[in-house]
Amino acid sequence: QAKKAGRNSISFFDPQVQTALEARLGLVEDLARAQEQGQLLLYFQKQVNAQGRTMGAEVLIRWQHPQRGLVSPAQFIPLAEETGIIMAMGLWVLQGACRQLKSWQARPITCDLTLSVNVSAKQFHQDDFVEQVRRTLVETGAKPSHLKLELTESIVLKNVEDTIAKMRELKLLGISFSMDDFGTGYSSLQYLKRLPLDQIKIDQGFVRDITTDANDAAIVQTIIAMTEALGLNVIAEGVETDAQRTFLEQRGCHSFQGYFFGRPVPLAQFEADLCQDKT
Ligand code: C2E
Ligand code: MG
Ligand code: MG
Ligand code: MG
Repeated sequence: QAKKAGRNSISFFDPQVQTALEARLGLVEDLARAQEQGQLLLYFQKQVNAQGRTMGAEVLIRWQHPQRGLVSPAQFIPLAEETGIIMAMGLWVLQGACRQLKSWQARPITCDLTLSVNVSAKQFHQDDFVEQVRRTLVETGAKPSHLKLELTESIVLKNVEDTIAKMRELKLLGISFSMDDFGTGYSSLQYLKRLPLDQIKIDQGFVRDITTDANDAAIVQTIIAMTEALGLNVIAEGVETDAQRTFLEQRGCHSFQGYFFGRPVPLAQFEADLCQDKT
């Protein structure tokens, strides 16, 4: 009976469970209003090349909750996915990123920057996702070649054929694709071969102990060799130390993202750091 009534109905009598469910419902209600209340923010984390030069940034959403403070996306993205809030939220992120690209295009210091935008499975598999991206590019005037979408293996798993079809259509618009958190899901080399990807992002879980754990080192070397063989670009995320950077670089990975280079920061700070880099 309880199961039939659905996820959001409270039909337990365990007070602890009851409290947890109520807290979750409260968070969902807050999340549904977060966008119109102006509580959502975009942070930017630089992505650098072998020379340490900033080539672009990953766009990372933040939620400034009036009571809870800054809530981590690890907490609210899954909730946004379950409730469908991710549809509007994802579009908001995409629009913000494209507006930013447009405004950067007008300035010499920023005109070559690329933005990587995370896309969730539900968002990607909407019937009109391709149309949403196309319209956003047209409306903002952002150059498609400067927009990269980060997909996860969960997107592919949900529907391989739909994923490939949509990626092809989006590639015709001129945007590119990165496979995020590579190696953490059920990666199949079979689909990897078929997806029109541009980049593979080595998950931070493999990078963390790369200099001390022989297995992680071996996995990372294999991923790099494989991306080379497939003609794809590779970037490592979660690079926190110079030793990790050097290790990766020596094995053929020339793009990096991580605290060693910079944390995710608000726009003003990102732009200030950029000017610092260039002087
Ligand atoms: P992700 O896409 O894999 O993003 C990388 C995460 O690693 C970010 O966490 C980033 O802050 C963190 N990170 C970067 N460098 C380092 C490092 O050197 N060390 C460590 N320990 N962590 C590092 P964040 O910002 O908390 O985001 C978590 C996840 O939430 C993201 O993982 C992504 O899956 C999701 N997410 C964030 N923004 C969006 C969004 O706009 N849309 C969607 N659908 N998902 C998002
Ligand atoms: Mg990402
Ligand atoms: Mg990632
Ligand atoms: Mg990750």
